[in-house]
Amino acid sequence: MSGSPAAVLIRQHLIDPETCIRCNTCEETCPVGAISHDRHNYVVNVDVCEWCQACIEPCPTGAIDNYRVLGRDQAYGLTQQLAWDALPAPTAAVAPQAPVPHHDHLVAPAPASAAVPAVNLFPPGHPLPASLLDRRRINAANAESEVWQLLLALPADAFPLLEGQSLGIVAPGLDGEGRPHAMRLYSVASARDGEDGQPGQVAIAVKRVTHSHEGKPAHGICSNYLCDLAPGAALAVHGPFGQRFLMPEDAASRLVLIGTGTGLAPLRAMIERRSRHPQRYGGAPMVLFAGARSAADLPWLNELLRRPAGLLRTHFAFSRVAGQPRQYVQDRLLEEHAAIYAALCAPTSYFYLCGRKGMEAGVHAALAEICRRHGDDWAARLPELAAAGRFHSETY
Ligand code: NAP
Repeated sequence: MSGSPAAVLIRQHLIDPETCIRCNTCEETCPVGAISHDRHNYVVNVDVCEWCQACIEPCPTGAIDNYRVLGRDQAYGLTQQLAWDALPAPTAAVAPQAPVPHHDHLVAPAPASAAVPAVNLFPPGHPLPASLLDRRRINAANAESEVWQLLLALPADAFPLLEGQSLGIVAPGLDGEGRPHAMRLYSVASARDGEDGQPGQVAIAVKRVTHSHEGKPAHGICSNYLCDLAPGAALAVHGPFGQRFLMPEDAASRLVLIGTGTGLAPLRAMIERRSRHPQRYGGAPMVLFAGARSAADLPWLNELLRRPAGLLRTHFAFSRVAGQPRQYVQDRLLEEHAAIYAALCAPTSYFYLCGRKGMEAGVHAALAEICRRHGDDWAARLPELAAAGRFHSETY
């Protein structure tokens, strides 16, 4: 039957505004630019979406995995979706098969040996009550901006966390439009067995946002709420989120960690885990490239300096030190090109990038240059690394 447009049923791909945490992963993942957002919602353009489903697996909450069956001419437009506070009621019709063309995309799965994460036990709207045990400054008092480590008390059995996962926090109150504030994700900075080995004690790193990335004054609602929270205060957490940025459990595995600013949080969790159980992870030293504007700005500097070289080799990159040339993590990667190239080639080495969005392009350019110097091609090597779960990025 060749129906009129009204008679043609489609299965429209939609994002649930109630469970979406606005992390932008879907928009970044979509290879055809079908996903966009405004201050309120993330939405899918039905005319552009090709059903490759690249966005489904990376979504930390499953908000992306929603569909409605309706006539082609009744498909929800972007303006409608942007205004939603909740998805429209499901339709009763049986879903027609959606075409699923194949697209290559570089969303790396978790390493094959990674522990199985628990995900979304406390989804948006259903938080787990927690409390703040402690709050301490983890960059120097004279740093350009404040970074705090918050130690949260959570029932460990109710909220199991693996290194590389994150939890969500919604600042209390309503925004200027009378809506709840957007959830903010924070990577867990402690190991799965808890900060200092104390089950149920979870560390996160929060930078007090007083300026936008462009340097204009801006008040971060959630970061200021958390940076001012008094020990003993109650708060509510969501999650755990994330099922890919996980470390291998294989004892032969080696970690190359590349982080800037508070993006060091999940890398610190991995370092903590491996430092606490060196025999279990084979004892091979981890390598860390850590970037900040200055030593004063770098979170956990003193702690990093205290780590034994047999466990962690750290290369610092400081971008704004008076009288010195600007150094980024990618510059230090280039300096270490022989060791980095060896790690790229070793099937037991795993790479983790975390921090500013902008660092990704710089790190990829450095790795491309390293490959070129060694007669190799990064464009060909990257898909292999990603498919093997050996190259992970989490940048915002
Ligand atoms: P930041 O102070 O803005 O930056 C840290 C360093 O990165 C600075 O030296 C900065 O240099 C440098 N940098 C800027 N652009 C770069 C580029 N294109 N390539 C390489 N280095 C570059 O760091 P931050 O404000 O803490 O931001 C950290 C990021 O990590 C945020 O985007 C945050 O969302 C993300 N993150 C946070 C968590 C968490 O749990 N809190 C977890 C995962 C990721 P200049 O500024 O001098 O150019």
